[in-house]
Amino acid sequence: MKGTILIVEDERKLARFLELELTHEGYAVDKAYDGREGLSRALSADFDLMLLDILLPELSGLEVLRRLRRDKPEMPVLLLTARDAVTDKVTGLDCGANDYMTKPFAIEELLARIRALLRSRHRAGKEVSVGALALYPESRTVAVNGEPVHLSRREFDLLHCLMENRGIVLSRDTLLNRVWDYTYDGGANTVDVYIRYLRAKLEEPRGLKLIETVRGVGYVIR
Ligand code: CA
Repeated sequence: MKGTILIVEDERKLARFLELELTHEGYAVDKAYDGREGLSRALSADFDLMLLDILLPELSGLEVLRRLRRDKPEMPVLLLTARDAVTDKVTGLDCGANDYMTKPFAIEELLARIRALLRSRHRAGKEVSVGALALYPESRTVAVNGEPVHLSRREFDLLHCLMENRGIVLSRDTLLNRVWDYTYDGGANTVDVYIRYLRAKLEEPRGLKLIETVRGVGYVIR
């Protein structure tokens, strides 16, 4: 068996189709048809991955994701979104989704993304620490002086990138390329906005200086 996958999808035909395809590929599959049921299954068993529709009865996919992330920050979640629902994608990624597919999708592409997510899970990174900061890639958690701090997915990825390159000044463009994917068309000031979010969560409550601004260049953590 290659892994266990939870499908949370209210379109029963699609859920059934996915179940058949995934079972055929060698995965063990469980299904839920609404958000509440999906969340309770996800919390009660250890799935290797969750396929989560956004438009669901009872509890929306995004709400399922928010609640899931409190207890299971590490479970890979691939969102299934309606066509052109850009806001859903952005919100979904910020809520901690690992990837998304837009419906309708080719099953081959979905299978490839599932394989990629499962591979990256197995390649789980090592802890990184710089001064007061510690970052745990496997659980996607961060602590300042041992005190856990909740970060959104982008905030986490941005901090991870800075910490892995400690002592190296990274330009806004470099950070934008590494942390946001190539389809993202927000400007370079997006990086400044997220640096402010990080400072508000990590530095300001503690009176610390962790992220240094290098004028006209970018940012560095030393
Ligand atoms: Ca739906």
